[in-house]
Amino acid sequence: MFDLTGKTALVTGGSRGLGRAIALALASQGADVAVNFRGNADAADAVVAEITAAGRRSIDIQGDTSAGRDACDAIVKAALEGLGSIDILVNNAGITRDNLLMRMDADEWDSVIGTNLSGPFWMTRAIARPMLKARRGRIINMSSAAGRMGNAGQANYAAAKAGLIGLTKTTARELASRGITCNAIAPGLIETDLTADLPPAATEALLAMTPLGYLGSADDVAAAAVYFASDEARYVTGQVLGVDGGIVMGS
Ligand code: NAD
Repeated sequence: MFDLTGKTALVTGGSRGLGRAIALALASQGADVAVNFRGNADAADAVVAEITAAGRRSIDIQGDTSAGRDACDAIVKAALEGLGSIDILVNNAGITRDNLLMRMDADEWDSVIGTNLSGPFWMTRAIARPMLKARRGRIINMSSAAGRMGNAGQANYAAAKAGLIGLTKTTARELASRGITCNAIAPGLIETDLTADLPPAATEALLAMTPLGYLGSADDVAAAAVYFASDEARYVTGQVLGVDGGIVMGS
C-alpha cells in the first residue's frame, strides 16, 4: 500500500516542520525527493542526508516561493534537472503574521498572501506543463483549519488558506483529464515551530475546540500527504482532508 518507489517529489519549505516530515515520509515510501528551502541550508542538508542515507535520491533547492513567477519557475527547473521528473508537488511553505483585522498592516497582509497563496499558484503554474506532458501528477496543497473556519487574528492567513482551497479545486478540475490530481490538507493544531510561537492562551482556546483534545504531530499530516501522493488515491481529487482532531467537521 502507498508504495512510491520510482516516484519523484518536490516539497516546498521542506527543511523543517511539516515539510520535513512530509519529505521524509514520501522518501520512506520509496520516493526520491527535492527539498526546497528558503534560508536554512544546514537544516535542508540534514533532510537530504537522511533521505540519501535511506537509499533514495535527494537534492536541496534554495528558493523563495513568495518571490513570484521567475523564482518558482527556477525551483521547478532545478528539481526537474536534479531528479529528471516531478510526479508529486507538495506546496507546503507557509508563514503566519498574526494581527487583529483593525491593526493589520499592508506588509502583514501582503507577505502572508504572497507566501501562502501566490507561492502555490506560481509553483502549480510551473509544474503543470511537465505534469501535463507526463500525463500524471499529484499536487498537494497545505491549507489549514483556519481557512475553513476563520480564526481571530489571522485574517491574512485564513484568507490565503481559504483561497488555496479554491485554487486546489480549480486545479483539480483543469488538470483532471490528464491524470493529475490536486488535493488539500487542512491541519488543525499541529506541534511545530509555527505553533510553538502561539501564546499559551490561544493554544488552550483552540484545544478546547478540538474534540480529540490534543495537538497533532507532523507525522499525522505526513501520512495524509503520502495517501494523496499514492496510486491508491487516483480517484480522489479536489478534496480537502482535515487532519485536525475534529475541529472542523465538513459535510
Ligand atoms: P514551519 O514554520 O515550521 O515551517 C514552514 C517552512 O516553510 C519553513 O521551513 C520555512 O522556511 C518555509 N518557508 C516559509 N516561507 C517560505 C518561502 N517563501 N519560500 C520557501 N520556503 C518558505 O511551519 P509548519 O508548521 O511546518 O507549517 C507548514 C505548512 O503547514 C504551512 O503552510 C502552514 O501554514 C501549514 N499549517 C501548519 C499548521 C500547524 O499547526 N503547524 C496548521 C495548519 C496549517
